[in-house]
Amino acid sequence: MKLLEGKTVIITGGSRGIGKGIAETFAKNGANVAFTYSSSAASAEALEKELNAMGVKAKGYQSNAAKFDEAETFVQAVLEDFGSVDVLINNAGITKDNLLMRMSEADFDQVIDVNLKSVFNMTKAIQKTFLKQRSGSIINMASVVGVKGNAGQTNYAASKAGVIGFTKSVALELGSRNIRCNAIAPGFIETEMTAKLNEDVVKGWRESIPLKRGGSTEDVANACLFFASDMSTYVTGQVMNVCGGMLT
Ligand code: NAP
Repeated sequence: MKLLEGKTVIITGGSRGIGKGIAETFAKNGANVAFTYSSSAASAEALEKELNAMGVKAKGYQSNAAKFDEAETFVQAVLEDFGSVDVLINNAGITKDNLLMRMSEADFDQVIDVNLKSVFNMTKAIQKTFLKQRSGSIINMASVVGVKGNAGQTNYAASKAGVIGFTKSVALELGSRNIRCNAIAPGFIETEMTAKLNEDVVKGWRESIPLKRGGSTEDVANACLFFASDMSTYVTGQVMNVCGGMLT
């Protein structure tokens, strides 16, 4: 059974990592996919071809999620190209890790803009469409770091904790219009983002995880599939930890 047959999904940051995994899982489940990227034009083009070959409509758009006007223009373009939108996944995110003592103001601001302000920008841009159709599912990519905190990631933790607060508030505000909003808090998922970490840190993470492995992009995509599909029509305002048991 294809859980997303005929639905159109927006995924920010689809060119690599978790976003790409979500795009592939969603296309397998029949969804049309509009995704953004920041600078990876070649990967975006390759993914567009891969998804189209799976028999769904797919298109990549270069759009900086941190910019309010770009989010608005992007959503308008998707509505013109695809006709409608059923699901928004705010996945784009970056890290600029450092101890607070050494963290620059620019690194704090940039992480907040890309990880948190982007969620505001995209939700504002899609809100009218979802209100008009009286349905919509918004899925925000948080992190276990936003739930629990992490030394060396004050900017990232603040952005992801902010995403969780935003998610719960949107769920309360828009629930009466059948618009759902949930967050996913991935633990240690092995992507290019985590490949930047040093080997000892990676070993430490793996040892501390009850399931004794890092997660895959598919593990996160499957949680998104639940929130995007009609399997979760009575679920909103929730944070699902996809973390191998790191948080209990
Ligand atoms: P990734 O491999 O570094 O990919 C990031 C994606 O976001 C890329 O497609 C990138 O586009 C895009 N992007 C970056 N800045 C953007 C911007 N300003 N506007 C639009 N797109 C932008 O990261 P990932 O590991 O897949 O992480 C995806 C999400 O999961 C992030 O929100 C991250 O915080 C969260 N997360 C990840 C982990 C983990 O262990 N990996 C754990 C918890 C939460 P380009 O390719 O063009 O740069």
